[in-house]
Amino acid sequence: MTTHFDTIIIGGGPSGLMASIASASNGNSTCLIEKNKQLGKKLLISGGGRCNVTNNVPYEEIIKHIPGNGKFLYSPFSIFDNQSIIEFIESNGVPLKEEDHGRMFPVTDKSKDILNVFLNKLSELNVSVQTETTVNSIEYDSETKLYNIITKQQSYQCTHLVISTGGKSVPKTGSTGDGYKFAAQFGHTITELFPTEVPILSDEPFIQSNELKGLSLKGIALSVLDKKGKPVITHEMDMLFTHFGISGPAALRCSQFVYKQQKKQKTKQIKMAIDLFPNKNETELMKEVTNLIAENKNKLIINSLKSILQERFIQLLIDRLNIDIETTGHHLKNEDKIHLVKTLKHFSFSVNGTKSIEDAFVTGGGIKLKEINPKTLESKLQNNLYFSGELLDIHGYTGGYNITSALVTGYVAGYSTTLK
Ligand SMILES: Cc1cc2nc3c(=O)[nH]c(=O)nc-3n(C[C@H](O)[C@H](O)[C@H](O)COP(=O)(O)OP(=O)(O)OC[C@H]3O[C@@H](n4cnc5c(N)ncnc54)[C@H](O)[C@@H]3O)c2cc1C
Repeated sequence: MTTHFDTIIIGGGPSGLMASIASASNGNSTCLIEKNKQLGKKLLISGGGRCNVTNNVPYEEIIKHIPGNGKFLYSPFSIFDNQSIIEFIESNGVPLKEEDHGRMFPVTDKSKDILNVFLNKLSELNVSVQTETTVNSIEYDSETKLYNIITKQQSYQCTHLVISTGGKSVPKTGSTGDGYKFAAQFGHTITELFPTEVPILSDEPFIQSNELKGLSLKGIALSVLDKKGKPVITHEMDMLFTHFGISGPAALRCSQFVYKQQKKQKTKQIKMAIDLFPNKNETELMKEVTNLIAENKNKLIINSLKSILQERFIQLLIDRLNIDIETTGHHLKNEDKIHLVKTLKHFSFSVNGTKSIEDAFVTGGGIKLKEINPKTLESKLQNNLYFSGELLDIHGYTGGYNITSALVTGYVAGYSTTLK
């Protein structure tokens, strides 16, 4: 049996859901095909189950936070942007709240409420939703100009096809990279895929010994360094030491640069550095440390510094600088104090990679954007074929930027299928 639709969307993540709604609300008979039993599996676990659905900042800020080709979104934004997302969710009965850095969440803190907006809308618009249906292959008939979507159960025909199958990260949510194969079949280039927003690995003895495991540093500046020791990127946020390396927001944001430096430097071991006091220059910090030590001359250094840094980290610094643990302020040599302050501003260590693409929050790389029309998300190589979401070569930092990109490109792709 074959059923015909004006538009078929493959993939029921945020991008495919939005594409389906945009297509159906503009009059196309629409079918959404999803391999899982449930739609939006990744959306449900997003934002720690709270779904950071978008970000309430100006375009320039959004683009800045999408280091993987964010500029491509300027064009789609002129049709549907972050404000349209907020308006869409809220006008469908789910109020949003703004948290730090413009991050938008449902007031209820439940991603399910966001998903329900999409589910209700699909049903209101009579979108035919085929769950537990995996698309195995796609055929295009150049005579009838129709797509044949083949699944185990049956095949479906459509005039316009939107592929929104996501990346390769967290495959248990259904994002297993099927779309790359479909895109390649139509002649599209897939740029190199790599893990982004992923914890970083290190075989430094202080990591392997677990001495800092669980220690979190607030508001530090974390950098990835080039061959010459110069920062290629710095992120001022929180970070966390783990039993395998580092994690937390600053580390996640730096992760793709570790991957890229490994390629560039043609070596596994990459240097990173932490500035523990990014808001103070070395002179200011020296003054503060000098005063602290002077006020507590008879105290052990490790105790004097406790007011500005966690004890476990001070211990590590003292070991690294070969300062005797029993040293009091009175006995601290001036050169050791200088080294100490320098190390607080530049604590360098080696990392040797990141966790895998499957463990990553986001997949970097994807369908080459030069082959996609930014105004419509239509393929420049194949008529009436559209791509949206993480499948494209667009990747952002955490903070609502990836779902924003998925929803914006999804909307424009779905809407564009109704224009011709
Ligand atoms: C743990 C976690 C938390 C995150 N939190 C946030 C956050 O708070 N904010 C944010 O902006 N981003 C977040 N992200 C990233 C964000 O969730 C993704 O970028 C976004 O879901 C991508 O949307 P998408 O629709 O393109 O793809 P996906 O959400 O991956 O959806 C693709 C869908 O296609 C289906 N599919 C695949 N192949 C086939 C096939 N052959 N046939 C049928 N169906 C198929 C899949 O089952 C899946 O449902 C998070 C990611 C993770 C892993």
